[in-house]
Amino acid sequence: MPSHTQENAPHHAIIRKPGLAADAPIVVVVTGQHGNEPMGLELGWQMAAAYKMAETCRFELRLFGGANPWGLRHLLREMEDGRDMNATWGGPDACRDDLEREVWSVLRSGRRVLLLDMHSQSGTLPLAYYDGPLGQALEPLFRSLPFVCKPKAGCLTGACEAHGVEALTIEATSGQPLGLLSQVVWKGASQWAERG
Ligand SMILES: [Zn+2]
Repeated sequence: MPSHTQENAPHHAIIRKPGLAADAPIVVVVTGQHGNEPMGLELGWQMAAAYKMAETCRFELRLFGGANPWGLRHLLREMEDGRDMNATWGGPDACRDDLEREVWSVLRSGRRVLLLDMHSQSGTLPLAYYDGPLGQALEPLFRSLPFVCKPKAGCLTGACEAHGVEALTIEATSGQPLGLLSQVVWKGASQWAERG
């Protein structure tokens, strides 16, 4: 059974300021891998809105929104075929569907790339999970966000770390306004792009 039928396919938005260099860094935002975590989805929209409102921007934003449409529609963590999307990322040579292929084609484009995978969990504080030294090195850019090392087989950020892509899993919580987290993440992503 295909993971995504045409009518519930996730969207891939390419958002870039006019005049941005063709080889500008890319911030890839993935949301909605877990259909029962809609705050992650909202965080992606807020990033896109912040991009539109910013006067200048040094990076291109790629939003893979609603990665698991069936799960979102049913408020379930899993996909229609029963798998946990964030437990089966194998890397560019082990893609399971078109979405994975499209994500990896951006990650392997040869440009600087930062991947942010948006989720939500219970608890009072939002968190950034990283999987290794590449992710850990991002900590100074997201200073007010607690960083936690949480390697997990098959998760997207782990697959990124394994293939040389800087990546974080961002976990929103209902214990703190999403707008605050969105500002922290936006600032971190902007500083990453400026770091060059
Ligand atoms: Zn999740």
